[in-house]
Amino acid sequence: MLFRAKGQPDETEEARLSPMAEPTKHEERKGMAANNVLVVSAHAADYCTRSGGTILNLVQQGFSVHVLALTCGVRGESGGYWKDNPEGSYEACSELRKRESTEAAKTLGATIEFLDWDDYPLVIDVERTRYLIKRVLQIRPEIILTHWTVDPTNPDHANTGNAVVMACNSASQLGALPGTPAHYYPNIYFFEPTVPMSEFNKFDPDFYVDISANQEKKMQAIAKFGCQPQLGDFYVHFAKHRAFQARIWTKLNIEYAEGFKRFVPYVGKGLPITVRS
Ligand SMILES: [Zn+2]
Repeated sequence: MLFRAKGQPDETEEARLSPMAEPTKHEERKGMAANNVLVVSAHAADYCTRSGGTILNLVQQGFSVHVLALTCGVRGESGGYWKDNPEGSYEACSELRKRESTEAAKTLGATIEFLDWDDYPLVIDVERTRYLIKRVLQIRPEIILTHWTVDPTNPDHANTGNAVVMACNSASQLGALPGTPAHYYPNIYFFEPTVPMSEFNKFDPDFYVDISANQEKKMQAIAKFGCQPQLGDFYVHFAKHRAFQARIWTKLNIEYAEGFKRFVPYVGKGLPITVRS
């Protein structure tokens, strides 16, 4: 788990990257890629609320899921902390959010890494984009889950989604990180924009993941986010809404679902078949 306890010295970059340390040979990298999932989250809880059920499914299917939390959402998504601690500090809130998010990731079976960038606004400049490129090239994911790129109700989310696309585009080019082979364009799936503003944010899912079997566990993970006590209600409501839509297409008894929009088109010798039983 990539979490630096308060008072400990900063790790070196190599140590910070250790859970997914660079393999030494290209073949090892290729082997890793098929099982690696990278989730890029603008704030401390976004990955869990929007894709927690899918992460649980993927972990149970044998994937290794790693979360990059770009910020802790101290300024914009920690209202519970500031309400209870009007004289609190950025640092104290940040540490609390990391503890919450680390517990949530653990509940989902994922590893997590906090980049400690600032939020509201989250600005991703060239240097930060290059860091994301580097992490994509190190982790070499088969699947990436991240934010939808159109989210005027929360530009931090949109900035994250757009930066991830830019990073994947760059990582697919030879020379992006000299000495490192390029990585193919991973399967990028965008998760929900700011809930409940899907229509306003022009998000119409084309993939639904049935998370019914893991909804309870997902809620246990969401419950770790004490600074955002409203999340449980929001995302139960939305998981039911997406399940309602998923049932229309399948007639299956899906109680809870997460919706995604695919970025990289499916390519194969056949066509993907919707699961019906
Ligand atoms: Zn957020």
